[in-house]
Amino acid sequence: MNKTALITGIKGQDGAYLSKLLIDKGYRVIGTDRRRVDIDNWRLRKLGIENQVEFEYMDLLDNGNMFRVMKKYQPDEVYNLAAQSFVGVSFEQPILTSEVDGMGVLKLLEAVRTFSPESKFYQASTSEMFGNVLDVPQSETTPFNPRSPYGVAKVFAHFITKNYRESYNMACCSGILFNHESPLRGLEFVTRKITHGVARIKLGLQDKITLGNMNAQRDWGFAGDYVKGMWLMLQQEVMDDYVLSTGKTTTVRKFVDAAFQCAGIPINWEGEEVNEVGKDSANQVRVDVSEKFFRPAEVDLLIGDSSKAKKELNWSPEVTLEKLVEMMYRNDYDMVSKQQ
Ligand code: NAP
Ligand code: GDP
Repeated sequence: MNKTALITGIKGQDGAYLSKLLIDKGYRVIGTDRRRVDIDNWRLRKLGIENQVEFEYMDLLDNGNMFRVMKKYQPDEVYNLAAQSFVGVSFEQPILTSEVDGMGVLKLLEAVRTFSPESKFYQASTSEMFGNVLDVPQSETTPFNPRSPYGVAKVFAHFITKNYRESYNMACCSGILFNHESPLRGLEFVTRKITHGVARIKLGLQDKITLGNMNAQRDWGFAGDYVKGMWLMLQQEVMDDYVLSTGKTTTVRKFVDAAFQCAGIPINWEGEEVNEVGKDSANQVRVDVSEKFFRPAEVDLLIGDSSKAKKELNWSPEVTLEKLVEMMYRNDYDMVSKQQ
């Protein structure tokens, strides 16, 4: 009989890619989402699976609702991808972020423990938990040192998931995923902001992109590769936690260079910090910096060591950063062109 998977945060980037992966494997996919005025399922539609997912309302702030849904489906696998996932907003809404990303996970685990204790459970942990990093590169044994309300809430969720595995013998695991991007990434994240902005510049629709910390370094991979790792984690006999990463780190500035390269617009950099600008060959400013996009506390460097996932899950990323930037830029260029 086909397995049933329940995915929270179905309408997010990872929810869409994971749904596609599981549907292709023959799973029945139950997707949960909170109630919104805008009910557009653009990510699922883009992957051609909008009509193959069954929807349920579920908000990680509402215990009763989670209990009912878990009782109704008792799924083979639960993937908890729902979160207030934007670090920047977590400084503006720290309490909401903690309620959803921290306590929300505990409430969901309680629903699983009570009504579906045989379900395998995946928690979306994050490299942001390493924060002001205490080791380079970061692996499963690197201590956490989070630098944002988002990171702190995710550390709670990570440890409570481990605690339920150890206390109740539940099949729970966490994937400590480094940044992963795609054409389905939200526009508020720096990679998509850049590729979308460069596409608009190329099409003459905007003059420049304004960014924050250009020196931040991230280990960026492709979301489509990372959801395969999530599934592999839940197929193991013994549950454990795994880092998924590319092992390469890149500055925001280099990502900008790569995106403009795709558009055939080479950029020359001048000045420093908030006075830094990137100019094209006609000396026109195409990138500048504003304090507005800096965070009260920054994670300067992330670079992951996913050798445990390679060894035990036979997982490794396939898409390089160059291919990722190209994929995102092409998608944005085509999308923006069609909107004209
Ligand atoms: P995303 O695109 O922002 O999707 C998150 C989803 O969670 C959205 O559909 C959102 O709904 C939903 N959500 C937010 N608050 C909720 C609530 N109170 N109840 C129920 N659903 C709620 O994030 P993603 O990039 O797919 O990431 C998936 C998960 O992996 C997240 O937990 C994220 O923190 C984690 N993660 C992501 C990365 C990365 O680089 N992408 C790295 C490490 C870990 P709305 O659409 O209504 O906002
Ligand atoms: P995060 O790693 O989950 O915080 O992913 P983001 O894409 O939001 O940010 C990645 C890095 O880019 C962080 O260090 C940000 O400070 C930096 N950054 C620089 N300019 C921007 C910007 O305009 N928007 C965002 N979102 N991040 C920026």
